[in-house]
Amino acid sequence: MSVPVTMIITILVTWFVQSKANIPELDVVSYHLTIEPNIQQKSLKGTVVVKFRIDKTAPQVTFSSGNLKIDKLTGNHIVGYTNRDGSLIIELAKRSQVENEIIIEYHGSPTRGLWFNSQHDYAYTIFSTSQWMICNDSPADKALFDLNILVPEDKICVASGDLVSRITKNGKVAYTFQQNYESPSYTYGFTIGNFNQAQDSIGPTQLQYYAQDYSSDQLLNIFKETPEVISFFERKSGVKYNQSTYSQILIGDYYQEMSGFSTLKHTYGQLVLNDSMETNLISHELAHQWWGNRVTCSSWSHFWLNEAVATFMSAAYNEVRFGKEAYMANINAYRQVYQTVKENGNDKPLVFDQWINPTKDDRNLVYFKGAYVLHLLREKMGDQAFWDAIRSYTIRYYGKSVNTQEFQHAMEASSGLDLQDFFNEWVYLVRN
Ligand SMILES: [Zn+2]
Repeated sequence: MSVPVTMIITILVTWFVQSKANIPELDVVSYHLTIEPNIQQKSLKGTVVVKFRIDKTAPQVTFSSGNLKIDKLTGNHIVGYTNRDGSLIIELAKRSQVENEIIIEYHGSPTRGLWFNSQHDYAYTIFSTSQWMICNDSPADKALFDLNILVPEDKICVASGDLVSRITKNGKVAYTFQQNYESPSYTYGFTIGNFNQAQDSIGPTQLQYYAQDYSSDQLLNIFKETPEVISFFERKSGVKYNQSTYSQILIGDYYQEMSGFSTLKHTYGQLVLNDSMETNLISHELAHQWWGNRVTCSSWSHFWLNEAVATFMSAAYNEVRFGKEAYMANINAYRQVYQTVKENGNDKPLVFDQWINPTKDDRNLVYFKGAYVLHLLREKMGDQAFWDAIRSYTIRYYGKSVNTQEFQHAMEASSGLDLQDFFNEWVYLVRN
């Protein structure tokens, strides 16, 4: 593996800042979004219909709203609202039901969360969903997501959910996507641009590859590992990949997994073309289709359960694909990152009490110390017990939220081992 470990994954985590707006009792059932981004003007207008449950005595409900401006807000039992500092606070009248529906019309010019490139004429989302759609940012609040998006006729749109329809009218194309399972709002997204395409498949799943900078033949070469990676994660998780498509788009400067697709930094393609053994980012983002998108950390404090597992899984794939040496090369790289953080005096528990403004070292802990700790856990438990436990953990929490204690208990329940000392030492940094 010639990939520097610092490149293995660098998901931006600025959306954590917004999590103060979360209200624990808010349960969004579905978002139905109609949106029209304008790439040249770097702006958007949208309407989102939000169905949600909240205690009928709750006097207000709070959503995250980024820098979006509200044009109109309608729904039963609404007394008024304020929209400032990234939060939309809606005052509710007395009512008899816990189920509510509101319709929010808005516009905005996001400076993050949705990146516009007017020169190359593309746009793509990258976390911070509330920068382009009013939503609840809490990872524990999983909901259905329908997307109607209007794009110029010459553009392709890839988005979360199954493509239901594509209708051309007056020089524009209206795409409709429906996501038929609940997932956290940070996994929603879309990408718009003029792309070269290539296709592959695994079982009933269409694999779609897109980029501006690479030919169709190059895309097939860059993403050639994808079917094998999916097959590997299906075996390790005990859960089939169950969406009709998985798309990968080489675009922009970041990496992010979303429901049913991932965006990867556009230069990553060249990295793979130069090194046929490079699979780390393809497998890391794909791993999130199980660990992250479906088995989701219950709050950002337990974010390592998303990122450490995905980082560890990319090493585990290299082990079956290229051998133990390749796996250990990854693990040693993770350990070295952790060692540097320790030498900087910045070692911390993997469960963060309050992840408000994470440093680079904090992120390195969550990704790389976390992945190294999973390797140590595998060594302690033994291969059979470890992978059996990973499978039963994944099956049990698939579609649900999970915290670190539940992860520990799942690993213990499956193996019959007492792992408290291990978790104290490596996860909680508690001296016995
Ligand atoms: Zn990740």
